[in-house]
Amino acid sequence: YSPIHIIGGGLAGSEAAWQIASADVPVILHEMRGVRPTEAHRTDGLAELVCSNSFRSDDATSNAVGVIHAEMRLAGSLIMACADRSQVPAGGALAVDREGFSNAVTQAIHDHPLITVVREEVSALPPRDWDLAIVATGPLTSPDLAAAIQNETGEDSLAFFDAIAPIVHRDSIDMDICWYQSRYDKVGPGGTGKDYINCPLDEAQYNAFIDALIAGDTVGFHEWEGTPYFDGCLPIEIMAARGRETLRHGPMKPMGLTNAHNPAVKPYAVVQLRQDNALGTLYNMVGFQTKLKYGAQAEIFRMIPGLQNAEFARLGGLHRNTYIQSPLLLDRSLTLKSRPGLRFAGQITGCEGYVESASIGLLAGRFAAAERKGEAVLLPPATTALGSLLGHITGGHLVSDEEPGKRSFQPMNINFGLFPELEPGAIVKPEGVKRFRGKEKAQAKRRLIAERALTDCAAWLGRT
Ligand code: FAD
Repeated sequence: YSPIHIIGGGLAGSEAAWQIASADVPVILHEMRGVRPTEAHRTDGLAELVCSNSFRSDDATSNAVGVIHAEMRLAGSLIMACADRSQVPAGGALAVDREGFSNAVTQAIHDHPLITVVREEVSALPPRDWDLAIVATGPLTSPDLAAAIQNETGEDSLAFFDAIAPIVHRDSIDMDICWYQSRYDKVGPGGTGKDYINCPLDEAQYNAFIDALIAGDTVGFHEWEGTPYFDGCLPIEIMAARGRETLRHGPMKPMGLTNAHNPAVKPYAVVQLRQDNALGTLYNMVGFQTKLKYGAQAEIFRMIPGLQNAEFARLGGLHRNTYIQSPLLLDRSLTLKSRPGLRFAGQITGCEGYVESASIGLLAGRFAAAERKGEAVLLPPATTALGSLLGHITGGHLVSDEEPGKRSFQPMNINFGLFPELEPGAIVKPEGVKRFRGKEKAQAKRRLIAERALTDCAAWLGRT
């Protein structure tokens, strides 16, 4: 076979290279470090972890990232094999010796007879004679390549920052306090006039909330992130600090909303949550991008009536992150619709995190190898963690009816909210168990989703 080219030897690119070579197809891996550094990487090693050394929970029965670990191991992942070999004690988490991990990946890639590593920056889209290629250049994609991608895909297609609002699991929102309603009952395309979940605040609650926001601990911008805030992305704590009323006239305005539980009393302020995934299991807090520290966010946002028991699928943030509008640009096998043969993988596709990036590299590698060999490209079932994440990236994002055209595809970690619901009646109370509500039921649900994922993943890989 002729080689498949991969640009970027990070988490995704290294995994993709391994998967392709494991399918007996040669790979040329182009990595710029060694010639040109990034702002965050410190070494020339492949798959360098730029920040934390944790791959997060390794529990494949109750944690979605644990499930994706297990699926990647089933699929022969290099990243997981090297992580397992470099593990350091971290309770239920899989944490690694970062140097040992990166060395192990680098060694395995260099030792593989079908992989060639070329140290160079690729500053344009792959030339046509690289008929099959994968772009896996990550959140810190070099500026020239980013410009070339933008040139190919359109001006609005590439984001350079994440301004992330927190995302909440819908079943943790207290609907005895909150209600469904779109502002002024407006019915947008595909909407019902009841597309938002609204949380009411009275004057005292609003003031206490503003005080907490202003006092909350924030994360500083790294020096290399030195770009100032830009329109529409102001963190809420900055807005709060600009004036006590700013949020009440901005994202927390109460106009056009009537509290269904208490129509006679007009809320002083309202926090709105908007459906975030096609399944309706996740809701994002509209306009709540923030640089508050994670601990402070959870504490402060649980002050909002109705969110007192909120479970967050992800917390808010603001940092440099180059990623494309994948749901519009990529097909289900991660190929750029406008350039057959050119795939994207890793964080640049709009997933978030080491494990997720590697897992999308794993898929892109398998898909590209199948294409090179003239075999069918088999997508993982939607019930698997790999399939759920792929579904988030390549389909089903929502565009807000209130803010038409506004970017709404945001990077996401794997979480149970991305998986399809279980069949009705699947969650059965175990015999002899007295209390089987809230937490116990949620745990049982997670276990069943995890079991289904691993069974279906094994079947997809032909292991059953
Ligand atoms: P990367 O691992 O970044 O790999 C991309 C590679 O492409 C790099 O090696 C880069 O040198 C190379 N490259 C870029 N442009 C070119 C080019 N034009 N030509 C050739 N090579 C090129 N995730 C977590 O799970 N936990 C964390 O704690 C965490 N902290 C982070 C902190 C920072 C500052 C940043 C930026 C990200 C952080 N992330 C974290 C996200 C993390 O970067 C990604 O999850 C993961 O590394 C992405 O994998 P990737 O393979 O897509 O990109």
